[in-house]
Amino acid sequence: MSKLAVQGGTPAVDKSLAAPAWPEVTPEDEQAVVRALRTGDLTSLTRGGAVEQLEADWARLTRTEHCIAVSNGTAALSLALSAIGVSHGDEVLVPALSFIASAVAPLHIFAIPVFVDIDPETFNIDPADLRARITPRTKAIIVVHLHGLPAAMDEIRAIARDHDLQVVEDAAQAHGAHYRDRPTGGLGDIATFSLNVSKNLPTCGEGGLVTTNRAEVAEKVRMLRQFGERLEPGKRRTYTHWSAGWNNKLSAVQAAFTRSQLARFETNNDRRDHNVRRMLERISALPGVVCPSIPADRTHAWHILRFRFHARDAGLDDVTDGAFRMTVQRALRAEGVPLTEYQRIPLPAQPFLQPEARANNNDPWTLFPERNYVYDSMKYPVTCAVIEDSSTIQRSHLHPESGELLDAYASAFEKIFANLDVIHRMARAARYSPPWASHAPEATT
Ligand SMILES: *Cc1c(COP(=O)(O)O)cnc(C)c1O
Repeated sequence: MSKLAVQGGTPAVDKSLAAPAWPEVTPEDEQAVVRALRTGDLTSLTRGGAVEQLEADWARLTRTEHCIAVSNGTAALSLALSAIGVSHGDEVLVPALSFIASAVAPLHIFAIPVFVDIDPETFNIDPADLRARITPRTKAIIVVHLHGLPAAMDEIRAIARDHDLQVVEDAAQAHGAHYRDRPTGGLGDIATFSLNVSKNLPTCGEGGLVTTNRAEVAEKVRMLRQFGERLEPGKRRTYTHWSAGWNNKLSAVQAAFTRSQLARFETNNDRRDHNVRRMLERISALPGVVCPSIPADRTHAWHILRFRFHARDAGLDDVTDGAFRMTVQRALRAEGVPLTEYQRIPLPAQPFLQPEARANNNDPWTLFPERNYVYDSMKYPVTCAVIEDSSTIQRSHLHPESGELLDAYASAFEKIFANLDVIHRMARAARYSPPWASHAPEATT
């Protein structure tokens, strides 16, 4: 049996198999950007310009009535919440495991995030816990389709209907994923996407998209991204401001780049799906690894691949899942698989939400001191367990030509699990503490 790289053996993933760069930039993408520059269409809101074209394309792909391009996915969330009427003091339900944007977008409009635990298999908001966290002040739910897998929308919509709540899809990681044959973006009252370079549908920088089927809500988002103005197509600007809007537009150059990416968006998704599934099929045969699962009624955009590691199922009875995960992660990294933790702290345990930090800034808690919001990560046991026992692959699998690389990753997993005696010894000797025990950054190598 070949010696593990962590013990000085040869890594399973050959160095010549570097991950193809993401985003993929083709000569067509370059030309699209140059064309946008040459047309002089550099403002965001030119009629018939690149921004409008991108909005029309994305509305068509998400099968929604309206799409509004904005400056990034975080701004998209704040605009969406504002547009559906969430305002200061309202509570917004947010999953305890997500990117930070899902938690701060409500705060940016002085609404208060209330966290909800996740489902241990889909990693998405848990409908049962969601119901339990509703109060008379709850106004909306931010449903994150985490890692690219749509959340349990029918259950969530039924709860929303019962309690008169609005549903915002945070689809920043789930471009092109489907739930019961319907694409993300039209599964709630309003949806937001990120076009950040790291996402499945990138721009050459920062950007975002908002989709909705509600005309009045779309109008509000348009107004809020443009200084609170109502610009009339074909008419001169009057500089009248109907609300204290923001400046959250997307540039034409960035829209042109994303439109060019859209030309191969669906084929890229299919090829990624094929590559990832082929890898997961091999890894899921290994006892003690839990691969991402997909309920039969949805598709996965595979933005992030999260693996859970369970020591007992691997036959290791005397080590914790956390120590097992940490050891396997180290060993796999040595083999050339770039496993990293994604979110090392439950959102409610982030330092800025703790009482010490809150006293010093003008977040909404200072407006409502009588409401004693306590953010206690112990109330989110599934989120904590998932953070301790799982690790992720990000970005290196996104390129459609990463198939060979992912095959090598699968071989590396197989090599590690053929040497569980070594892993067992290492895990027993390891000094393990949960990721949230230290905020110190680790070396990148
Ligand atoms: C990336 C991301 C965002 C924010 O998007 P930006 O464009 O980076 O502001 C929001 N929510 C989730 C779940 C994300 O992954």
